[in-house]
Amino acid sequence: MRVRTRFAPSPTGHLHIGNARTALFNWLFARRSNGDFILRIEDTDTERSLAEFERSHLADLKWLGLAWNEGPDTGGPKGPYRQSERLDTYLEYAQRLLTEGLAYRCYCTKERLEEVRKRQVAAGMPPRYDGRCRDIKSGSPAGVEPVLRFKVPERQIAFTDGVHGDVIFDSRSFGDFVIIGSDGVASYNFAVVIDDAMMEISHVIRGDDHISNTPRQILLFESLGFKTPSFSHLPLVLGGNRVPLSKRDSSFSVSALRAGGFLPSAIINTIARLGWSPGEGLTGLDELAGSFGIEKLSKSPSVFDMERLRFYNKTAISGADAGYLLNLIGLPADKEDMTAAVEAVKDNASTVVELKGLLSPFIGDVQYPEDALLVLNEPYAKEALKAFREEAENLDMLDDNAYKKIIEGVKKKTNESGKRLFLPIRLALTGERHGIELVNVLRLLGKEKVIERLKRFQP
Ligand code: GLU
Repeated sequence: MRVRTRFAPSPTGHLHIGNARTALFNWLFARRSNGDFILRIEDTDTERSLAEFERSHLADLKWLGLAWNEGPDTGGPKGPYRQSERLDTYLEYAQRLLTEGLAYRCYCTKERLEEVRKRQVAAGMPPRYDGRCRDIKSGSPAGVEPVLRFKVPERQIAFTDGVHGDVIFDSRSFGDFVIIGSDGVASYNFAVVIDDAMMEISHVIRGDDHISNTPRQILLFESLGFKTPSFSHLPLVLGGNRVPLSKRDSSFSVSALRAGGFLPSAIINTIARLGWSPGEGLTGLDELAGSFGIEKLSKSPSVFDMERLRFYNKTAISGADAGYLLNLIGLPADKEDMTAAVEAVKDNASTVVELKGLLSPFIGDVQYPEDALLVLNEPYAKEALKAFREEAENLDMLDDNAYKKIIEGVKKKTNESGKRLFLPIRLALTGERHGIELVNVLRLLGKEKVIERLKRFQP
């Protein structure tokens, strides 16, 4: 059997860390098994699905390096890969169930369903359709567009989940469910079964939030004579507050992290460790695929750790090529001074945004924040800057030796040391309180710029 996995996002928000983890594990499993990874867009909820979110899902997955073999943009033999383009197929299969007596038209109004639900809840029973229209033989009530319901056989449904092991559900807990709405659109549970069967998906790997849908889907697979895929449900990803991540919280979206200066490899390495332990160290996608296994996944929820992401990002940035980083920032990657500046500052940056900040004194003019100006206008600071400038002016090159000489000279002249000596110099040259070693600041700026910046704060 050829391994075929799929990632099936609903484009009702941006791709978030939790769903990106689902995509990654599907990708890794397919890659490890030399199989196919399919992208399917589940956009039957026309009110909440937006083309913009579909676009951003595709862009984010590509950016993460999770390329698909078949999908809405690339096409493929089992397409189309957008549910909104497959509605007729769902209707054909629904018709088949109807003809075989495995589904029926239901004319119950919303009001009646609500009343039934209330009665059941009040009696302490699980709310489910009471089957009123199951055996209606007579014609339809005028003016009511029916839904199609699947006739759920009363039985236990057992399956072996790749993560959770043996799972049993009783179909009495959910009752006859809708497969086609009164608007003619397939429900999630119906569309997903037709698609997984038509697309020959061998392994369904998705979030735990879908585990209670699985028995419904297994009944449909069986009734339609399809081969049931194997199922694995991934425990949820929680935020720092231990609440499951939601599409509504945009700070956990891949696009927000990208804008915040995180690299794809850092995100991949962080999400790979949500419920899996592939060992320490920044690892590439192919290497991760080599050691991936569903049986290795944890059964408990995992917490997304921002500090871990920052750690991996810092490691990724300091290991990255200067040219790659300059490209990311949108700076020319072929200038020697730029490359030298990136090499000098990259170990100090946890994000690309920080990297840009660290580079800014060397690629443009300095911005002096209010608190920097307060220090720079102190008399002791002006003395230190003046002494530093005088010493620097006497030297040709601002290299390591020159730096030592300058500092000795300034100490003698001003009697200052430590923070009172170094902070004003750093602030005048970079506008920042912290950053790369001062000797490297001098080297990167060169004598002319150093003198000009020091002069700005002298009478
Ligand atoms: N479209 C569903 C979602 O975004 C996923 C369905 C599935 O994987 O079966 O949650």
